[in-house]
Amino acid sequence: MSGERTVLRGTTVVDARDGSLSRDVDITVEGGRIASITPTSDERPGQVAVVDARGTYAVPGFCDMHAHPLADRRDAAPALRLMLACGVTGFRQMSGSRTMLTERSTGKLVPPADGPALLSMPGEVLLPFNAGSESVALQTVRRQAEAGADFIKVAVVTPEVFFPAQAEAARLGLSTVGHLPVGIDVRAASDGRMRSIEHLGPGVGIVAACCDHQRLIEQAVSDRPAPKFPSAPRLPFAERLMGMLMARVLAKIVINPLLLAKPVDAEVIADAGQSFNDDKARELARVFAADQTWHCPTLIRLRTQQFCDDPVYRTNPNNRFASKRTLRNWRKATEKYSSRPAAMRTAYRNHYGRQLQMVRIFDDEGVKMIAGSDVSGSGWEIPGFALHDEFDQLAAAGLTPLRILQMATINAAEFLGRTATSGTVEQGKDADIVLLSGNPVQDVAHLHDIAGVVRAGRFYSPETLTATIEAIAETHSAV
Ligand SMILES: [Zn+2]
Repeated sequence: MSGERTVLRGTTVVDARDGSLSRDVDITVEGGRIASITPTSDERPGQVAVVDARGTYAVPGFCDMHAHPLADRRDAAPALRLMLACGVTGFRQMSGSRTMLTERSTGKLVPPADGPALLSMPGEVLLPFNAGSESVALQTVRRQAEAGADFIKVAVVTPEVFFPAQAEAARLGLSTVGHLPVGIDVRAASDGRMRSIEHLGPGVGIVAACCDHQRLIEQAVSDRPAPKFPSAPRLPFAERLMGMLMARVLAKIVINPLLLAKPVDAEVIADAGQSFNDDKARELARVFAADQTWHCPTLIRLRTQQFCDDPVYRTNPNNRFASKRTLRNWRKATEKYSSRPAAMRTAYRNHYGRQLQMVRIFDDEGVKMIAGSDVSGSGWEIPGFALHDEFDQLAAAGLTPLRILQMATINAAEFLGRTATSGTVEQGKDADIVLLSGNPVQDVAHLHDIAGVVRAGRFYSPETLTATIEAIAETHSAV
């Protein structure tokens, strides 16, 4: 709220660029901005709310750079509040629609004030039904550009569609991000300025490019029949209907897309694991780094698929923040996954180790990365908490706590071209701040210890945040 002034007294500011500390300072926020950062004092000017922030560490608000909280309108408001309670002050919405884009441009898409900011949003994700041929895909890209999409997201398209769609997006001033569909040459996609690759592929494409058996694996993958999707409808009203139907079908698949896998797919993954070559992976990482192709690994998304039957998920106390309907669907998907042959599940578990290794290699070789969870819609992912699960997985991959902090803050700002207003705690920047009770550069666990959140200049105490999310849990238990 403009005019509201708050002082965070006696905190330590962590510079997200290098982890250096400015101790014992007062951060004054006003009108949604950081008005000043000064040595701490006991002064109590009038009309100012003072927060005792001694012993805390101030970092920029976290950005969940791969999230879908707006996908299901019923769950959007609680999801956004859960995210804020976990220190998430901004998110990149990774799926949209023409309706959502129009609503945003006419001021009708207004996320709740006590939730994170919507930083960036595409139109519909490119799939066979809206990008089944080059001409249909180009039309889809043009329509999304007209409706105000910030970028184009590709999911499942053929190579014949992928590159022309990417070129058309670039011509219209939009970047392309998303998945590397089957059959796409990884290096060619990077060269063509794929701005960010999500989920390390997903699938086998990138890992195959790191393997001695690359050609064999690619052959095995291209021999597999393509997943069947309905093709593009001809009538405009049919398009809407198809959109709704697709949304339903996709919602089921999205919980755990690995349920579509066949034993032969797991065999390919196992082969990739055995012929994984560290040097080839480093070489590929250097291509991504040179092309400035970003990665948003969403490790937690990969882990909750490949270890979906891990009891840690079923018994997660934070499941109380998910609706009964959601939990029912997650349990059903898990049962199905558990009934898969043991060899298959083992292959996917082992594959996760390779994926951690790849993230470590990417980081070593200077590939730019951002942190994302792929919440909501994904199985066993609770909004907000899932980004913290991602922090832990990035740590398991061997990334330093500082790098993980950067992926969620300054790297996100750089990716979005917003370093002038966000990414660090500095005078003049947006007042989106997380207070932590321990130094996050020393230990990744301190990223979880939230001692307060400032969003658009308004301070939320841990008590307020807890009350908000416990009310959400109560709503679910009452249903
Ligand atoms: Zn996603």
